Formats: sequence, structure tokens, C-alpha cells
Amino acid sequence: MEDCIFCQIVAGDIPSRTVYEDEHAFAFLDVNPLAPGHTLVIPKSHHETLGELPDEGSAALAAAVHEVAPAVEAAMDADATTVACNNGEAAGQEVPHVHYHVVPRYEGDGYGP
Ligand code: ADP
Repeated sequence: MEDCIFCQIVAGDIPSRTVYEDEHAFAFLDVNPLAPGHTLVIPKSHHETLGELPDEGSAALAAAVHEVAPAVEAAMDADATTVACNNGEAAGQEVPHVHYHVVPRYEGDGYGP
């Protein structure tokens, strides 16, 4: 999708701070982080919502989140992570390309999606 900002990030046309990449998934730092290390994990192919992802894309995205969440937690010396997906506009999804937020969490931090 030419006008999708996350597709342009995957293509390298918009710069990002890459955290993780495999054949099907890509992860990069959020430009407006809820906490330092806030990372977005996305499928490389364009799908707007989780329901539009094909089964194999869904499995690949879950596998990438499985890799990225503990890696972010360790890298940021966090106590935990919040992993969240705003799935659809009414849920607060602003970028119409499926993505999981991985937010480092600390005891008593009081923030997160
Ligand atoms: P919300 O902004 O309500 O969290 P989304 O769940 O759709 O809505 O999240 C989109 C996320 O994408 C936001 O956290 C935003 O900061 C991030 N974002 C938007 N543009 C970029 C970009 N060019 N690079 C990195 N992150 C981006």
C-alpha cells in the first residue's frame, strides 16, 4: 500500500529505528513512545486489522511478538511489558496497518495503553 506509513517504513522509504526483522514481520521504535523502548511489531504485508490477516500471517506476527516482547523487557531492564493491539478505528487504531505495541513496564509506573 503506497500511502501506508508502516508499509513505507518496511520498504525503507521512511526511516525507523529497527528492533527486529524476519521474513514476515518487522519491529521498530515508536516515534511517540509511552515509555523508552516502546516498540511496534507489524506484519510486512499490508492488512488493516487482525481479522484481515491470513492464518500464516497471524502466526508469524504472534511469533515475532513472542521474540520481541522479552527482548525489549531485557534491553530496557523492565519488570514487564504491556502488549496491546488497538484493533480497528473505534478502538483507537490510528494507523490502518495491524500493529502490536510492546511497552516496557516498571513497578508503579502508572502508564501504558
Ligand atoms: P494510537 O496513536 O492511538 O496508539 P495506534 O494504535 O494506531 O494508535 O498506534 C499508532 C502508533 O504508531 C502510535 O503509537 C504512533 O506514535 C506510532 N507511529 C506513527 N507514525 C510513526 C512512525 N513514522 N514511526 C514510528 N512510529 C510511528
